[in-house]
Amino acid sequence: MSGAANDTIFGKILRNEIPCQKVYEDEDVLAFQDIHPAAEVHFLIIPKKFIPSLAEVGMDDAPLLGKMMALVPQLAKEQGLADGFRVAVNTGRMGRQDVYHLHIHVFGNRPGGAPLSGMAGAH
Ligand code: AMP
Repeated sequence: MSGAANDTIFGKILRNEIPCQKVYEDEDVLAFQDIHPAAEVHFLIIPKKFIPSLAEVGMDDAPLLGKMMALVPQLAKEQGLADGFRVAVNTGRMGRQDVYHLHIHVFGNRPGGAPLSGMAGAH
């Protein structure tokens, strides 16, 4: 893993110190099921590079973030979200971020289920 020390729960997942239900992995990115799903399907996409939050992202990170975002529709479809989903990146204290390792929430209900309500987020 590149970047500064990462003592978050996601750092522990990346170091295989605690388990996760893996959805996808490559050299840059890991995706896994959220342990407290906010919808029928709810997974997280994280960079292997330690970036604490979206607030710390710079232009150098554009290819990595582009890859993460481009993975969203592929993984959402694979996880059964064939009819739409929601993406959230809680950022900082005012954004109610709990885990300070950048992550994209992808969540939604399966086709035939209820659409998500209003601006309901990953909390
Ligand atoms: P945030 O509030 O945006 O920082 O979201 C952190 C998310 O991480 C929450 O949705 C938690 O349910 C999820 N989470 C916390 N610990 C774990 C874990 N060990 N495995 C999977 N997801 C987790």
